Formats: sequence, C-alpha cells, structure tokens
Amino acid sequence: MSPLTDLGSFLAHAVVLEDEAATRYRELADAMAVHNNPDVEALFRKMSEYSDMHRADAIEHAEQHAGGLPDLKPWEFEWPGDESPESGRLESTHYLMTPYHALELALEAEEGAFAFYSSIAGQTGDPAIRELAEEFSAEEKQHVEALKKWIAQYPEPPENWDDDLDPPVPVD
Ligand code: ZN
Repeated sequence: MSPLTDLGSFLAHAVVLEDEAATRYRELADAMAVHNNPDVEALFRKMSEYSDMHRADAIEHAEQHAGGLPDLKPWEFEWPGDESPESGRLESTHYLMTPYHALELALEAEEGAFAFYSSIAGQTGDPAIRELAEEFSAEEKQHVEALKKWIAQYPEPPENWDDDLDPPVPVD
C-alpha cells in the first residue's frame, strides 16, 4: 500500500512522521533545558505540541475518511531514503549540543518532512491525498521558515566550540 495511492497509508506515514518529530523535539527541548536556554527550549516544546496535534488530526482523518489507520509493518512504509524524514539524524545528537546545532538538527528534519509531503503532492494521482499532502507540506514549510529565523539569532559557533570542555573519560 503506497502512500501515493492509498489515503490510509499516506496518513499512517504522517502519523509516524509526526510521532518521531514530537519525540525528537522533546529530546531537543530537554537538551536545551540542560544548557539553560529557556527560549529555545520553549520553542521546541511548542513544536512538539504541534506535532502531537498533527498526529491526532491524521488519526482522526483516517478514522473519518479511510476506515481507520492501516496497521503497516515497518517494511511496508515507503520513505524516500531509509529513515522517516522528520526524525533527524540520531547520530547528530551531541551531549554538548548548542542552540545552533539543535536548531540545525530540527531544520533538517522539517526540511525532510517538507520534501516528503511535497513529493507525495507532486506525484499522487489521488485528489484527496494530494489535497492533504499540499496542506501538510505548507505547514512544514512554515516550520522550516520559523526555524530559519531562530537560526539567524543563534549563529554557528566556531569550529573548536567544544575543545575546551571536558570530554567524558572513556573507562576501559
Ligand atoms: Zn514539522
């Protein structure tokens, strides 16, 4: 069941994407709490709430228009690339993450989500899927724009930004 041809499948993809986004934003918010940056922390908490809302909307839409969410197995999802787009790269999570790095990670995930929805909107022949995919991609575009404004306020730290901090000592 491709998200291009099956509304339920498309919504199941949206649910996974928003679920992972909400989790990632909570992790990033926690990282910003550790770094004493309440402004960026609050931004990430708000973004995680948006993801929760979108997830709930997608489930409701599936119940009303697609006979509920299909129970897709992990290998039945069709993501461009191997990982769902909004998840961000896990290996990028750094224990010394600065607001800049956290915002960049969030931006990467939002750009992936935007690319996913807009590619569905551009490729599907199903008008109902296209309408939703266009709506979702417009929302992701707003998230991308919002994060870019934040990044402008938190410039990239110098190359050696973590050199002087004590790295964890490996125990062996
Ligand atoms: Zn988003």
